[in-house]
Amino acid sequence: MNPKKYRVIIVGGGPAGSMTAMSLLQLRPGLAGDILVLESKSFPREKVCGGGVSGRVTSFLEELGIPLEGLPRVPVKRFSVHFDEEICSPEFGNDRCFVTRRADFDALLLAEAARRGAEVRTSTPAVGAYRERKGVAVVDRDGVVYHADVFVGADGVNGRSRTWFNLPHRGRKTLLLQTEFPRDPGYPPLRDSLMMDFSIPRFGIPGYAWFFPSLGEGGEPVVNAGISGGAFSGGSYSRLKEAFLAILANHPEIEAMVPSDVHFKPYPEREYTPIQIGARERVLFVGEQLGTDPFTGEGLSVCADSARAAALEIDEALRAEEFAFKGYSRRIRAARFFPLYVVGKTYCLQNDGVQPNFFFAMSTRKKSGGKRNVVDYYTSTFSGNEDSTVLYSPTFWGMVMRDIAVTLPGWVRLVGGKAP
Ligand SMILES: Cc1cc2nc3c(=O)[nH]c(=O)nc-3n(C[C@H](O)[C@H](O)[C@H](O)COP(=O)(O)OP(=O)(O)OC[C@H]3O[C@@H](n4cnc5c(N)ncnc54)[C@H](O)[C@@H]3O)c2cc1C
Repeated sequence: MNPKKYRVIIVGGGPAGSMTAMSLLQLRPGLAGDILVLESKSFPREKVCGGGVSGRVTSFLEELGIPLEGLPRVPVKRFSVHFDEEICSPEFGNDRCFVTRRADFDALLLAEAARRGAEVRTSTPAVGAYRERKGVAVVDRDGVVYHADVFVGADGVNGRSRTWFNLPHRGRKTLLLQTEFPRDPGYPPLRDSLMMDFSIPRFGIPGYAWFFPSLGEGGEPVVNAGISGGAFSGGSYSRLKEAFLAILANHPEIEAMVPSDVHFKPYPEREYTPIQIGARERVLFVGEQLGTDPFTGEGLSVCADSARAAALEIDEALRAEEFAFKGYSRRIRAARFFPLYVVGKTYCLQNDGVQPNFFFAMSTRKKSGGKRNVVDYYTSTFSGNEDSTVLYSPTFWGMVMRDIAVTLPGWVRLVGGKAP
């Protein structure tokens, strides 16, 4: 029994948990000592991830005043988007995007949360939680019970916190495979680009392969690569591996870097969906407990946006002593990641194994008269160079509608049951 009552207990010390703690402490420095973070692992801990950090996340970290100078990372200047033979390489337009090792990144954030006043207990898994008459209680593996006004579930894709409150996840679960191998620093596309190859729907997998320039544990140049999009079910590991190895034929220079005994780490991801329950009385979920962007698999922006939204909700609730968190969903829909979700979902919906792929037909087609295409817009909002609400503009959707019209004959043939 722990007699102290906290204001907030956060289960999970990954980026979503530490960002939530820091956002709260920025809004209310007086909460120092009253926020408890329970983390099951000892830090630094590895997290299977591409390690790509968008400019929007960097801006959020800068707003929090996180010192990023000492973080080992590879700055990236552009996307390099491949779709069959087509390549487009739009520039981010700023120097805010980078690739890092998650072990270092997450350890930095958790240490900063502790330095700012969160009480962080690592190697302390929570095994259950429940509502009390005037608050919530969390039980750890040793049977210690912690009490608070508010519970935040930040325990990631494999976390169990939703089940404790009977609020199951509604997003689709997919399997990813990730690997790492030495990088030839002389290969230009991998010096400063986030390479993504969207040709894998050819193999019946609605997703993408990625090749990011990263750093190994000793700071040596490596490629962080992998494939995403398989249904989370038995048998998809070998299908994904096969598709990844087949895609390498499009990238002979990278293929030459891949060792013959390449080993993949499988890890799940959960899609964000607007029908997800984000909060209930005294309980909020952040980060991958909400989900990731289904198009690029970007999860850190959801961590940042949900941390900010949760902090604002909790701040208001503590002031009013009213803990229904009714405004949380609205805040999430107004968040920076949401318009990118809408565009990404458009792509996913039309691409569940179906070709031709109109999104990429329109994205990679030649541009005329200095006009921007869909990927250009996507890139400038990913990097935070442009506000993501531009993706709601009539100009943007006018372009989408025109391009749908261009590819309509292919769709009509599909609906009619004939091969395109
Ligand atoms: C292969 C792969 C590649 C990816 N690439 C990218 C990328 O390039 N860029 C990007 O933005 N996103 C990427 N993502 C998504 C991103 O990794 C996640 O969305 C992000 O890690 C979510 O952060 P989180 O803090 O919610 O969860 P996590 O990072 O998973 O952290 C959750 C923490 O909670 C702890 N925990 C769990 N259960 C308990 C418990 N009962 N008690 C206490 N602690 C608990 C865990 O130990 C963990 O430390 C990728 C995902 C995968 C699988």
